Amino acid sequence: MAVDTTVPLTGRGRGAPTAARLLRPRSYEEAAEAVRDCGHRGAIARGRGRAPGEAARNAGGDVLDMSALDRVHAIDAAGGTVLCDAGITLRRLAELLLPLGWFVPVPPGAERITVGGAVGADLHGPNHHRAGSFARHLLSFELLTADGSVHVVDRGTPLFDATTGGLGLTGVVLTATLQLQPVATSLLLTGSDRAGDLDELMARLCDADLRHTYATARVDLLARGAATGRGTVLHADHAPPEALPARLARRPLATRPHLPGTPQLPQRLVPPMAADRPLGRRALGLLNDLRHRSAPRSRAGTLRGLAAALPALDGGHALGRGGGTVAYRCAVGHGGEDVLRHVVRRVAEQGCAARPGLLKRFGEGSPGWLSFPARGWGLSLELPAGAAGLGVLLDELDEEVAAAGGRVCLARDRRLRPELLPSMYPLLDDFRELRAAVDPDAVFTSDLARRLGL
Ligand SMILES: Cc1cc2nc3c(=O)[nH]c(=O)nc-3n(C[C@H](O)[C@H](O)[C@H](O)COP(=O)(O)OP(=O)(O)OC[C@H]3O[C@@H](n4cnc5c(N)ncnc54)[C@H](O)[C@@H]3O)c2cc1C
Repeated sequence: MAVDTTVPLTGRGRGAPTAARLLRPRSYEEAAEAVRDCGHRGAIARGRGRAPGEAARNAGGDVLDMSALDRVHAIDAAGGTVLCDAGITLRRLAELLLPLGWFVPVPPGAERITVGGAVGADLHGPNHHRAGSFARHLLSFELLTADGSVHVVDRGTPLFDATTGGLGLTGVVLTATLQLQPVATSLLLTGSDRAGDLDELMARLCDADLRHTYATARVDLLARGAATGRGTVLHADHAPPEALPARLARRPLATRPHLPGTPQLPQRLVPPMAADRPLGRRALGLLNDLRHRSAPRSRAGTLRGLAAALPALDGGHALGRGGGTVAYRCAVGHGGEDVLRHVVRRVAEQGCAARPGLLKRFGEGSPGWLSFPARGWGLSLELPAGAAGLGVLLDELDEEVAAAGGRVCLARDRRLRPELLPSMYPLLDDFRELRAAVDPDAVFTSDLARRLGL
């Protein structure tokens, strides 16, 4: 097994790295050996490190990079299930499955998320309002626990519910069996609707949820006054074969369908995100205005390949592209709309956001005890870490979200105050109890777990 002794690791979105011993097991036996032999600072599994926060880091301890364990063991093409290693990326899995007429049940915005990372963070996608999160499609998994033994964990058991969304703290997922979604083509029919303020945007998103498989909304976080929270709803559905032109209909399940590009503003017109200096709010405001006004009021029926359309639905959030950003994702239940309005207004007043926010409606919650998405609304922001007053602002927002019975996403967190955690995650004590039972010496730990006392 390859071992690098002191590797500086960050989450996606950067921030100060912490150094750990990085081990790359190439077999389940090597993974078990790594867990049994880890030092007093414990170990944590890591997929591709795409979680923006501290969840896959372990300062002074061991980090198990699972990306070499990435085999597909069995595909049931009739029943639509797959048994695969946890280190395989969802993108690779989708490439293998599409020609067979199957697709991953929860597609992420990021390309290189692993199955293990999707279990650990209980991934949610732009189809959450219909499909729920990753745990709902997971039939079972094999878990390597702290004593080095491997357990098959089935749905409906406490260990299943603690592990899905459990941020790697119950053990290392080695393999997973997933229920897939059937698709007839590898293309999406996409569309958009423009809204002049936040209330209109929320109403349009509710409407899009009723009609479309995938739906999200981009929020202009610089617009103020009557235009506060204006934005665009983006929606998509898997294209039926009859929607394809003859050229594409010959190979409806091609993994890389050849489509003409969608017209976009030239990249050089988009100023890079500046994390540690003023953002040129005026220039960005004008650019947002131009974008908003030039977007069609409503558009539908544009054909796009899955690989291009899905990241766009995630708001095109290339987290950390410019370095030094803080990812903030919060959720509030239905009835918590005033909190959303206030969060958007406060961020707009602060004038620090360089990228649009991402608004989403969540459907049925997950059985995962620390799972983030629950029925209601989700709002995701990406803010420059160096923005003046950002820490105070986010602390205020945390309190408001917690008071409304909402929560922040732990896989993205680098700064939540631990005292707010129990009200955000009411099953936290059950999680701690189970963790103490399966891992009494707290072998599995992370920077996040230490800071929040998980
Ligand atoms: C551009 C972008 C878009 C994103 N969009 C979304 C989105 O739409 N929805 C969403 O939910 N998230 C989203 N994320 C966040 C990210 O995708 C998730 O946090 C995901 O878990 C990261 O996967 P990973 O494989 O890189 O895992 P890592 O970041 O390496 O780890 C994430 C967590 O999973 C645990 N873990 C990883 N592998 C295993 C394993 N084998 N066994 C046990 N635990 C394990 C880790 O310990 C850690 O706690 C996005 C991130 C980016 C960068």
